Amino acid sequence: MKIAFVVPNMFKTRAFDAIEPLVFAILAARTPDDVEVVFWDERREDVPLDPTVDLVALTVETHTARRAYQIARQYRALGAAVVMGGHHPTFMADEALSHCDAIVRGDAEGVWEELVADFRAGRMRSVYTQTETADLADLRLDRSIFKGKGYAPATVIQYGRGCKFNCEFCSIRAFYGSCLRQRPVADVVDEIERMNHRHVFFIDDNIFVDTDKAKELFRALIPLNVTWSCQMSIDIAQDRELMKLLEKSGCAGALIGFESLNPENLKQMRKGWGVKRQDYETSIRILQDAGVMIYGSFVFGYDADTPDSFAETVDFAVRNRFFLGNFAGLMPTPGAKLYDRLRDEGRLLHERWWLDPDFRYGNATFVPRGMTPRQLTDGCHWARTQFYTAGSIFHRLWDRDTNIRNLHRAGYYLAANLVFRREAQAKHGQILGGDMALVPAEAGD
Ligand code: SF4
Repeated sequence: MKIAFVVPNMFKTRAFDAIEPLVFAILAARTPDDVEVVFWDERREDVPLDPTVDLVALTVETHTARRAYQIARQYRALGAAVVMGGHHPTFMADEALSHCDAIVRGDAEGVWEELVADFRAGRMRSVYTQTETADLADLRLDRSIFKGKGYAPATVIQYGRGCKFNCEFCSIRAFYGSCLRQRPVADVVDEIERMNHRHVFFIDDNIFVDTDKAKELFRALIPLNVTWSCQMSIDIAQDRELMKLLEKSGCAGALIGFESLNPENLKQMRKGWGVKRQDYETSIRILQDAGVMIYGSFVFGYDADTPDSFAETVDFAVRNRFFLGNFAGLMPTPGAKLYDRLRDEGRLLHERWWLDPDFRYGNATFVPRGMTPRQLTDGCHWARTQFYTAGSIFHRLWDRDTNIRNLHRAGYYLAANLVFRREAQAKHGQILGGDMALVPAEAGD
């Protein structure tokens, strides 16, 4: 029996910022030894059409659903069965099932083993739903499948799952529920010690959901002499002890979802807690003093946004010398309350924009209140372009605590900005999927 794990690409072009998709290392470790496993990541390579594959497992996000369905169609025509997992099939079960043979809803641990056994016995069901909360002490990974894929040079590690917040546009809470889980710190330390990379990226949606456990982890990282980065919420800058631990343990960067500078927008998206006790710029300075390079993420299109919001936000990000920035139109995705609200208000331009052949990456998907959809699309593209001009890159470099703290940091800053500048332009306006025919394995070998 042969199983193919496949990551579908959003576009036709390769992604230079792709990181290791941990879910397949988890599935590979949980697949019986006598099953042959192959892994193709379309962000980094062509996916061949291999007639010897019995079962194809695809991880599907809303932005990659169209491409996932195209791949499924070609493999099913060849006689293989196709299973899909991830956020999109979890929330759009009927849609996904019209393109595949089975879906996995929620965490795959435990359910995957059952699915493989059922498939072998010729009794695979159409829906496998995770009913238990997977114990992260039992997290096993087979990273050998990532060899030679050319991912970004960082070890991707998961410490925990879940988030204590419930932002309107986010589906993390709907996917994981309100349960917050962390792995034993000793397991994480052991995993890092076995890796060659000296830089670790914690993939957790919010590693600070339990600050005591976060502190326990950071204390354990100090002797390892690694640098690390993560995703965080800005509220943690209010905890001075945590800030000291970030610096001592080697925290070099953080992706922070600021989302908006407008308090009305933050309130509407249920993210007002981010600035409750301390304004953004005070929190940013505290983090930068601790050596943290900030990758700020912003969304546009909430009700208080106007065409002026783009320039105000870019000014803010450049003035605060952010390491990187993301400026995106609000995307209503299934599973998030935002999607239901905009649909109920009749403001979605296409109910299933991810399947619409006319949709292009970066396009507005709904009618904002304070501007037209066209202004939202163009404003986001303008913001990304402005943030990555040569002048902006040069200006932002000059923060001695972060971007130009040493030569290594400065080199990393420049390389990352050039990659992100290129990606921002390359992705804009591209069709999702791309409808490329898979190359038959014989010809591709
Ligand atoms: S956007 Fe971030 S902070 Fe908000 S619910 Fe999602 S993971 Fe949590």
